[in-house]
Amino acid sequence: MSPPPPPPPQARLLLDSAALIANWQDFARAVGGAACGAAIKADGYGLGARETLVRLAAVGCRHFYVAHWQEVPPLLPLPDGIILSVLHGVTADELSAALALPARPVLVTAAQVALWRQTGRPCEAMVDSGMNRLGLAPAETADVLAGMEVAVLHSHLACADNPAHPLNEAQRACFAEVSARVPAGAYALANSAGIALGPAFHLDLVRPGIGLFGGGLMPDGRVSRTVGRMQARIIQLRDVPAGGSVGYAAAFVASRPSRIATVALGYADGYARGLSGVAWASAAGVRCSAAGRVSMDLAAFDVTDAPALAEGDWLDIPFDPETAASLSGRTSYELLVALGQRFERVWA
Ligand SMILES: *Cc1c(COP(=O)(O)O)cnc(C)c1O
Repeated sequence: MSPPPPPPPQARLLLDSAALIANWQDFARAVGGAACGAAIKADGYGLGARETLVRLAAVGCRHFYVAHWQEVPPLLPLPDGIILSVLHGVTADELSAALALPARPVLVTAAQVALWRQTGRPCEAMVDSGMNRLGLAPAETADVLAGMEVAVLHSHLACADNPAHPLNEAQRACFAEVSARVPAGAYALANSAGIALGPAFHLDLVRPGIGLFGGGLMPDGRVSRTVGRMQARIIQLRDVPAGGSVGYAAAFVASRPSRIATVALGYADGYARGLSGVAWASAAGVRCSAAGRVSMDLAAFDVTDAPALAEGDWLDIPFDPETAASLSGRTSYELLVALGQRFERVWA
């Protein structure tokens, strides 16, 4: 007997390949002669790492970054000519998996360098130029890496989203000084926001992430193009009299006789609870305000002004990352990576 067909999803993300590609091309153009990679960790910022890699590889992106070795197998097989790098480096218990996979570590500690040195393989390495997070200390980097084949030497900016912050220039200068003493195939410093800091920060290679996926500002100051549009199905429509309440804590009270649509979308899907009462849905261009609290699996919208809606219809749920971030008090990064596994991700 063949297995039963998979049940249809009740929520979906409509993903826009053209917007993803246009965002990457904007970064690539902004860095001129430098190479433009793509950070696709955390499943491509929640939107789909494999789908992102395939699309960006097809338009010329060669360097991709994930955080963990566990993120590598779902990306295979890699298209020809792609270099996949693992930002957390490699530990002893990851070594055998790492040697069997077509990716290379960005080594972040002296112990990792010693471990990888025994393999005789090329590496990448991270210098901590002032963030005090991951990476080799500037003073130790040249000695620790002596004799290693370093394909790319990286550093990472702590304050790139604040162009006025003095740490940007301090980190750039520190990394330049270390780079002068460490031979490498290429030098890389900038994330999405770092690219906007200008050519002095571009070096040979850049690693944009959030700006590819609809968050943050692009190098020209515009907001990144939204890549994922959210839709959820109306499970039930209910007529609520004036004075009736909706949802947990009765947080919404109808001020007029109202029609409430309850949709299959909740904070378990990454539709943040902070959007309660402040977000909206859209039905054929009519704006339908959120009614009450977002719960784990459900959210409600006041669709009184969209009388043609029926149970089973799809509602458009605006989720442009920066707007949703400011409405919910979270960041576009947190919102994107929290997008859940119940969404059907549909690429166009
Ligand atoms: C995540 C990450 C990036 C991408 O940063 P965005 O702010 O998303 O552009 C670049 N470099 C490193 C080391 C990262 O960890």
